[in-house]
Order: sequence, then C-alpha cells, then structure tokens
Amino acid sequence: MSIKIKFLGGVRTVTGSSHLISTRFSNILLDCGLFYGHRDEFYQRNSTFNYNPRKLNAVFLSHAHIDHCGNIPSLLKRGLSCKIYTTTATKDLCSLMLADSGKVQEEDTRYVNKINRRLGKPLRKPLYTEKEGRRSLRKFRGVSYRQRLKATKDITCTFYDSSHILGSSIIVLDIRLNGSSNTMRIGYAVDLGRQGLPLLNEPTIVEGMDYLILESTYGGRVHSPIEEAKIKLKDAINRTIERRGKLIIPSFALERSQEVIYFLNDLIKEKQIPAIPIYLDSPLATGITDVFRTHYGYLNEKVRVEMKSKKEGPFDFVNLTYVAGIRDSKALNNDKRPMIIIAGSGMCEAGRVQHHLKNNISESKNTVVVVGYMAENTLGRKIVEKQRYVSIYGVEYELNAEVVVINALSGHADKNELLGYAKSCMPIKKVFVVHGDEAQSKNLHDMLSEAGIKSRLPDKDEEIVLD
Ligand SMILES: [Zn+2]
Ligand SMILES: [Zn+2]
Repeated sequence: MSIKIKFLGGVRTVTGSSHLISTRFSNILLDCGLFYGHRDEFYQRNSTFNYNPRKLNAVFLSHAHIDHCGNIPSLLKRGLSCKIYTTTATKDLCSLMLADSGKVQEEDTRYVNKINRRLGKPLRKPLYTEKEGRRSLRKFRGVSYRQRLKATKDITCTFYDSSHILGSSIIVLDIRLNGSSNTMRIGYAVDLGRQGLPLLNEPTIVEGMDYLILESTYGGRVHSPIEEAKIKLKDAINRTIERRGKLIIPSFALERSQEVIYFLNDLIKEKQIPAIPIYLDSPLATGITDVFRTHYGYLNEKVRVEMKSKKEGPFDFVNLTYVAGIRDSKALNNDKRPMIIIAGSGMCEAGRVQHHLKNNISESKNTVVVVGYMAENTLGRKIVEKQRYVSIYGVEYELNAEVVVINALSGHADKNELLGYAKSCMPIKKVFVVHGDEAQSKNLHDMLSEAGIKSRLPDKDEEIVLD
C-alpha cells in the first residue's frame, strides 16, 4: 500500500490544522487544531470527522496553540484510544490551554443559551467542557527534542525545535517502505518560528527530507527586525511616564506575555526605563509562566543562564506582580501611579483587559500598546484603527489614549525566512504549502516555484499519494 497524506484542515486558511497520513500499517494524525468561524460553522466543522478517530494509531502534536491542539478533546469524545505524542513542555502547556479553551466554550454556550431560551430556540452544548479539556491530557506522552520514538509498526518520529513558542516542534516522520529497509522522510514545519526571538533558539535544519509540509502565515510579507519592538516599547513607556499615565498591554497568555516581561526586565536592567510597577493580570498567563520556569531547558542559552544563576530571574523581579484575584485586579484602578498592566485576552474580546481598557482608554495621558495580531471585528482591531469611539460591555468610550502598534514580535517566519528554510532542506521532492490565507500561501508557492523548488498548494480534504 502506498503512503498517502490527506489535508484535513489548515489549508488555504490559518486555523484548524490537521493532516492524516496513512501507510500499510498505520494511520497517524499531525495536529488536531480548532477551526475558528462563526458559531454554527465552528461547531459543525470541529465536531465532524471524515475519518474514524478510533482507527488512529498515533497523534503527533507540533505545539500548544489552540489552532493546532484545540480539537483533541473532540477526538477523545469520538473514541480516540491511541497515544498523543508531543514535547514535555507542550504537554504541560496543553493542560492549561485545553482547560481554558473548554472554559471559554462553556461560557459562550451559557451566553447563547440565555438568548435562545428567551427566543424559544433549541439550547446548545459546548464542543467540550473545561473538565473534558483537562481530561484529554491522560492520552498525552511527553518526549524530548531529538529523541527517536518508534510510534507505530512502520513509523519512527522525532521532534526538533521549531522556535515558534516554548516546546514547539518540527515533526519528522521516518516511514519504513513496503518490505524493505528504505524509509521515506516527511517533515512538518507548521508553525515555523524565526531567528532572534528573545526566549527561543533558532529553527532546526533537518536533513534528508523527501517531503516538507510548510506553513505560510506570512508567505507574502516581511517582518520588521525584532529589536525594533524593544525600542518602540521603551519609547512608549518613557513618553507615558512623562505624562504620569498608565500603559495597558493586551497580550496573548502564551509566549507573548513572557516575551514582553522579558523585554521589560531587560529595559529596567539596562536603565532605559525607570523601575515602575508592572502587573501581569491574567491567571492563564501566570500559569503558563510557571510552565516556562519548569521547562526553561527549552529556552535559549542566554535565558537559561539567567534563569539558573540569578536570584531575580527574567520572570521574577522586584517590581513585577502576578495579579491573582479579581479584587486585586480591580484595585489597580485606584492606584494612580504610572504603571504597566499586561492583561488578557490578546484581542481584547474577553478577560480582564476589558475593564482596564474601560477605565483608561479615554484619558490622553495613558497608552495602549498592541503587541500581537488583532483579527477583524475585534475590539483590539478597533483600537489599532484608532476609531474615535469603541464599545466595551455595551457602553461607548471615547478613545483618547495613545495607541502604539508593535508588529515586530511575530513568532512566525516571514516569506524570506520560509523560502530560506525550504532551500536549506534541499534536495527535496516537494513542499506542501499549508497554514496561510489564500493570498499568502499562493505567494509562497510562487516563490518556491521560482526558486526551482517543487511546491503544491493542496485543497481542503485533498488526498495525495506520496512516492
Ligand atoms: Zn502557532
Ligand atoms: Zn498556527
């Protein structure tokens, strides 16, 4: 039997990454991410599987972002019985991320059902609950980078550092070919990070690949240098302190919050900003920072040394406070000193950042620093667009605060880095371009072709025979 790959999700779009590889002896899944869409489509796409999860022999997970791991609890609800392999850091991050994802879905269902009950419409169920999210961890098995793992009768798997977030991996499968000692090597670099991220190493170049599945989130764009982020952050802080204002930084709990804290600690140590109070106001980000402390071996050498050798590590310094209870969070509003508040959620659609924005957004002495991607129609995007009025909890607030947008912190390789990575894997039979909006994927596909690298842009649910 030939080796086949079926692109189940995360093709010509960025969410819902999942790919099925079938061989003579095994059916394995690469990632099982949540697809994001409007409520009905979200539920329908994430609860329907056009293969039998009971027949899978192994699942391999690249990293803990929800668009890669977030639909694993649904797989378990459909009878998945095999093991889920990932790095030890990703396993611990998933325990927090999947429980949080379940909680968000329960909250959303409660909200919708309140309306449906009033309208006499049928009630909904969450895709999975917080408890189901947490319970799916029982199938996880943690491995280290470069540890060769015989996962099924004919597939050996190795995880290499992809430098995208803590514990993220390029997954390399060595598949034994029919009745011979020859193997086929498939690499899965989705998502692929970039060089120079403050906490991480550089993406690993893996030799001898026959096929590469490559992301293309920024297949048509070039990032600003990462150092620019630190300079913009420093300038925004100093300007705001001069005005005796507060800085509100909406931030994703995983990686971005830790990066911002790391930069702030650096800036204070280098005396580029005064040591004003800094608050991390996100229980999820606080839990994730604990995982960074436990798994600091996954970080780059500079950070590892700092975390090992000093009393005050990059995530534990005197003016940084991890805010626990909601009362402490609200109390920040009565403290009129200049300060920095980092709070979730990343796109300002929920969480504690909303009450900080509500309390601070109308005063021109304050600053909102945007450090991550803001999707269309989110409160975060409205702030980026500097709309005159924004609605928070149904009330209109005038946006007078300064808005600073920092784009340089992306954890994804840009078009030149993606092309460079593919070139470094040559010779290679073919690159499959996935995980990007249509235009971005198409651009990378064209760039690869121009560079003489065979490339293919698969359709959703397309099955391709590998030879
Ligand atoms: Zn990711
Ligand atoms: Zn992704």
